[in-house]
Amino acid sequence: MIAKFETIKSLLERSLQDEKFKYKLITYTITAVHIFLVGLFSFLRVYPLILFNIGSVITYMRCISIIKYGYDKELIRTFYITYVEIIIHSFVAAICIGWRFGFAQYTIGLIPFGYYMCVTLIDEPKKKYLVPTLLGLTAFFSFIGCRMISMFTGALYPLNVPSPVELFIYIFNSICNFGFLFLVTLIFIMDMQAATNLLRDKNIALDNMASIDPLTGLYNRRSMQDFFDAVIKAEEDFCLIMCDIDNFKKVNDTYGHDFGDVVLKEISQIIQNQVNDHGHVCRWGGEEILIMTKVPLDHTCVIAENIRSDVENHSFRLHETAIHCSLTLGVAAHRPGNNMEETITHADKRLYYGKKNGKNRVVSPYDTQ
Ligand code: GH3
Ligand code: MG
Ligand code: MG
Repeated sequence: MIAKFETIKSLLERSLQDEKFKYKLITYTITAVHIFLVGLFSFLRVYPLILFNIGSVITYMRCISIIKYGYDKELIRTFYITYVEIIIHSFVAAICIGWRFGFAQYTIGLIPFGYYMCVTLIDEPKKKYLVPTLLGLTAFFSFIGCRMISMFTGALYPLNVPSPVELFIYIFNSICNFGFLFLVTLIFIMDMQAATNLLRDKNIALDNMASIDPLTGLYNRRSMQDFFDAVIKAEEDFCLIMCDIDNFKKVNDTYGHDFGDVVLKEISQIIQNQVNDHGHVCRWGGEEILIMTKVPLDHTCVIAENIRSDVENHSFRLHETAIHCSLTLGVAAHRPGNNMEETITHADKRLYYGKKNGKNRVVSPYDTQ
């Protein structure tokens, strides 16, 4: 049962991707009801209602062609046509056969249908709500009006049908009306869900744009600041590794800036793979990468050394040539109560020391400088 419901739901979801499917579904459903009514009134020999329903079927065929071939702006016309048709049909049915068969019930479904169509299809903000409200009120007064007319005038074609037939017609109308309400509500909810999902995806994309460096895919400096704020607030220990590509200017000058970008991207990937979920990696600026680890200093030094050796052993390919690069890294440990800027300066100073003393090396607090 649940599996079947899921299949129907996913079928509906896929169909709703065809923007016009929902309008077609609603109009085909209404047309099918009118075709049935042509048969029913033929059986009951209520000629005005046979003619009226034949006219309705032809009108809805026109609506379907508006939906299929018309512009989006024209779709609202199908609602106005449906609205007028249902109101007049309710009155004609009340005048011809009276109230008790339940044909006036259809005016109720016009209220949610009207709001759905007007809010989604009318552009002017005021009209969006005013039009369906006025039409909804008119539908309500029509419902009451049908009751009063049938009370005062009596039926033009009094039907002397057995009570099971009367009950059948009443239940048929109720099923159609409730079914219509379910359908419109379901379409409305699914539309809302789709809009919410779209908004959520766009927010995630915007969030990524604001926090991720587009070239390297690493976090940007702003995001790193957020990570710092979080660990400082939580009073946690952490370590920093400041990395800088050795002789990168020369790489750019020799092989071009585009190749420099490739090197920067691949080194970022190597670092990301080594750090994995032990911390966060950010592009601190230019070709400087800052790593924050949440593992002890010993482990951080191992990570730093692994990064260094991975970069040293990596071949950056330019056409047929393999180029090698290296990285110098400065490590610092931060304890709760330490000054954040000072920890960064310690990492920076060790990096600088590494640069001055041969490059391609890791300088940690264990090194005597
Ligand atoms: P050192 O070993 O002392 O670090 O030498 P270096 O040549 O790397 O010197 P430095 O760090 O001062 O040079 C940084 C160079 O990095 C300069 C700049 O053109 C280059 N660079 C910065 N950002 C990018 C980038 O996004 N792409 C490319 N291709 N180059 C960049
Ligand atoms: Mg630099
Ligand atoms: Mg450099």
